[in-house]
Amino acid sequence: MSESAAFTPEQLRGLEDWTRRYPQPEMGLVGALRDVQRWHGCVGVPAEEAVAGIFKVPLNRVHGVVTFYPYFTTAPAGKHRVCVCRNVSCQRRGADRMAEHLHRRLGPEGRVSADGLVSWEAVECLGACDHAPALSVDDELLGAASPERIDAVLEALRAGKTPDPAPIPAQSPATPGPHLLTGHFGDGSLHSLGSYRRLGGYASLERSRGLSPADITAEVKRACLRGLGGAGFPAALKWETVPPKSKRQAPHYLVANADESEPGCFKDRVLMERNPHALIEGLAIVGKAIDADGLFIFIRGEYARQARILEAAVREARETGILDQDVFVMQGANAYISGCDTALLETMEGKKAWPRQPPPFPTVSGLYGNPTVINNVETLMMVSAVLRIGGEPFAKLGAPGSGGTCVFSVSGDVERPGVYEFPMGAPFPELLKAAGGVRGGKRLKALIPGGTSTPVLNADEAMRVKMDFDSIRSLGSFLGAGGVVVLDESADMVEVLRTIEHFLWHESCGQCTPCREGSGWVLRILDRIRSGGGIPSDPDNLCRISENVAGRTICALGDTVGMVAKAMIEKFPEEFRKAAHG
Ligand code: SF4
Repeated sequence: MSESAAFTPEQLRGLEDWTRRYPQPEMGLVGALRDVQRWHGCVGVPAEEAVAGIFKVPLNRVHGVVTFYPYFTTAPAGKHRVCVCRNVSCQRRGADRMAEHLHRRLGPEGRVSADGLVSWEAVECLGACDHAPALSVDDELLGAASPERIDAVLEALRAGKTPDPAPIPAQSPATPGPHLLTGHFGDGSLHSLGSYRRLGGYASLERSRGLSPADITAEVKRACLRGLGGAGFPAALKWETVPPKSKRQAPHYLVANADESEPGCFKDRVLMERNPHALIEGLAIVGKAIDADGLFIFIRGEYARQARILEAAVREARETGILDQDVFVMQGANAYISGCDTALLETMEGKKAWPRQPPPFPTVSGLYGNPTVINNVETLMMVSAVLRIGGEPFAKLGAPGSGGTCVFSVSGDVERPGVYEFPMGAPFPELLKAAGGVRGGKRLKALIPGGTSTPVLNADEAMRVKMDFDSIRSLGSFLGAGGVVVLDESADMVEVLRTIEHFLWHESCGQCTPCREGSGWVLRILDRIRSGGGIPSDPDNLCRISENVAGRTICALGDTVGMVAKAMIEKFPEEFRKAAHG
């Protein structure tokens, strides 16, 4: 391991290859730097200079990228990076104890072992709440951490072996159906093209070949399919905002947003590892609907295995001629904010993931200023289902205004964390029952319905809420990306809020002062409360900061800082009052 920029001839060829891999050379910058980090254990200044030369970009741009994304380090990390997730669902299942164990075994977080082999980090989210407390090595998910598992992993690394990855769950869905996306999860070979086709896969793509773009869009409109990545915007309406081809001068693009980084959400990971061809099929159909010139899948850095699965599936589909267009798979570098549409475009262009201030929206000015539709993984997969069963039947499966089903990620204090597909509008108690109920027979205390960036609901609200966009919104929260986090009666809500706010502070890109500073203030006040030094006005101070941040930032992360704090304090006022009084 070294900070030198001494690359082997093969490595240099590899770096140069990154400049030719995508439509624009700079789109390969993040991928090239990922390789450097892997080879050298860090990206030092000499390596930055070499990469800047190869990509013909200024050194300060490369340095900006290296220092922005958590994947990169400027000082050597261990040859192997052991990560344990620290977010809410993992914390509820013992993440802090795992961090203590790693500290005992390896010393302080970030310190490299004397032989240079290992360093460890408590990270913000691994997208694996179903394995909580989640453990990974070098972006390979290993499953649930335990002291014994950690010891075994360290032993394997020291022996030069690769630790066993987490098993991909092969169980049939434990829900009554209908199962538009998870119906064949019991088939362990579903990821292969042969199995997917045998089960009816790619029939929707075939059907789409006889339809015009307008026909496809109309069918999806009839289906009332809304974006399942968080915003809930009607999918077909988004496509219609792309300038029609006859009036278009520039190429336009379709991007599958597989940067599923919201804590509490992991369904896209499971869907991609179980059924990658369903994503490719949906991507190809929507590509036809908007007449896209380029198709991309942008996947979060922590999903290394899923990226490989997708690349293999794309190769299969291309080799057999099912896919008549290239699909470029691009990996991020472990920044949550890359999941925000406009920040994702910046990462794709090889820059820091700074969200852009709309308008214009990406459908008008996206990748390199060209019209770009960005759809979530599950949304794209659902498009195949719409063509398979028809728009109206699809709409009827769900709730008014939210057609079809939703694959919920359920985690936290439940017996069986996992993905559960239910019709839109299913009552929350049904989800809870499918996940085995509250863990240990305890009482339900709270529900975070759409990932930790969504306002909390108390137990009464949870037991009467229906899981669709509008029903949850009527209670002041959001379906988000369906990341359901269940909290039992033992949950300390001040601690839960502190974990969420630490995440937001850590992941703020820092462009907007209210977000950058407000998240820091909120975190400091919560730390003061938790250390016993709170003052009676602290809950009000938190709410006031929240109100001053909301609506004054470029992207929604700033709004989230305040929204989640205010909801938590309003729903559990006594807990915050008591804690603040010390
Ligand atoms: Fe960055 Fe926060 Fe502003 Fe979003 S709101 S652009 S994360 S500083």
